[in-house]
Amino acid sequence: MKKMLLAAALAALVPIEGFAESAFEACIGDIRARAVYEGVDADVADRVLGRVRHLDRVIELDQRQPEFTTPFVDYLGRRVTTQRIERGRALLQTHRALLERVQAATGVPPAYLVAFWGLETNYGSYFGRMSVPSALATLACDPRRAAYFTEELIAALRIIEEGAIPLERMEGSWAGAMGHVQFMPSVFLRHAVDGDGDGKRDLWNSIPDAMMSAGNFLSALGWDPKYRWGREVVLPHGFDYSQAGRTERRPLNEWRSLGVTDVHGNAVADIDLEAALLLPAGHLGPAFLVYPNFNVIMGWNRSEFYALSVGHLADRISGAGRLHRPPPAHAPRLSRAEVVQLQSQLNESGFDSGEADGILGPATRNAISQYQLAQGMIADGFPDETLLARLGISLKGQQ
Ligand code: CA
Repeated sequence: MKKMLLAAALAALVPIEGFAESAFEACIGDIRARAVYEGVDADVADRVLGRVRHLDRVIELDQRQPEFTTPFVDYLGRRVTTQRIERGRALLQTHRALLERVQAATGVPPAYLVAFWGLETNYGSYFGRMSVPSALATLACDPRRAAYFTEELIAALRIIEEGAIPLERMEGSWAGAMGHVQFMPSVFLRHAVDGDGDGKRDLWNSIPDAMMSAGNFLSALGWDPKYRWGREVVLPHGFDYSQAGRTERRPLNEWRSLGVTDVHGNAVADIDLEAALLLPAGHLGPAFLVYPNFNVIMGWNRSEFYALSVGHLADRISGAGRLHRPPPAHAPRLSRAEVVQLQSQLNESGFDSGEADGILGPATRNAISQYQLAQGMIADGFPDETLLARLGISLKGQQ
């Protein structure tokens, strides 16, 4: 205890920034030793780590939490725009030969490659302007996810060592995602490939490298060339919505026997392909059956909304029209406090939504669905105004 007080007293004598700076330097020194021990060239480690800086902005961005939930209508509307669809269609033509070569090598069709490209960086128009080594060093020396970001920083050192990109030009997002398709350094090391044959893997300046790498990564994640990502479907009257949810997988032919059709009214295929039903905007919005490739997309980014956006954008780029049943324009936006309140109410009523953490995840949706069933409501697991009113929650953040 005395020792701690002494340290605190000494710290008070040193300007705070100076104190933090020396902690950062010590941390970087440890990472340098570890990188060299793991085989990174000592000169590269010295050159790069000698120039990294602590970026306060990175910590700020990492700690930022959204104040409200984002409804599917807003998420999709911001990402799958007319402009992005049209640009995607044009790029599909421009790069057709390349994209077909990638498909032949990896099994991933052109429209999906273009969709990832569009969602990640708006087709290469924005890579992020952070120094990746400094951003990763900052996060590696922050206690919350130090182990993960230390690995990523060491991976970044290896990328510089192989000569893929000079240190000064290794720019990316605040979390270290890089280039046209925003690979983290560890993903780059494992899955990036040279698509244009110049001997380098350059995901910043070479579209062939970026597209071939994206296809290679998706293939490694298990992309099945025989199938789509999923599709929008229409559910019959009186359908039991409690069967929705990504973990409620059943063969496509079972969904077929339940009366599920495509948007043209044709029964879904009579095959034994695992599929799950998603209702991202509740029973009043679109319904989707998602196939194993949907989980592959989630291996790239663990967000159902992201994966639905990739699938829908790929369809639109391929020439498909708008959703048959667009999500309702006015969807409730819940603050974190309201989600906590919702979860607590459900838990108190005997419907287990897990820890009341303010995040609308699968456990909360399942608890909502069970509550709705018990109340004789449509059990879509979606927190609409009717449900919230029934639980006595009034939303304050509506616009
Ligand atoms: Ca190359």
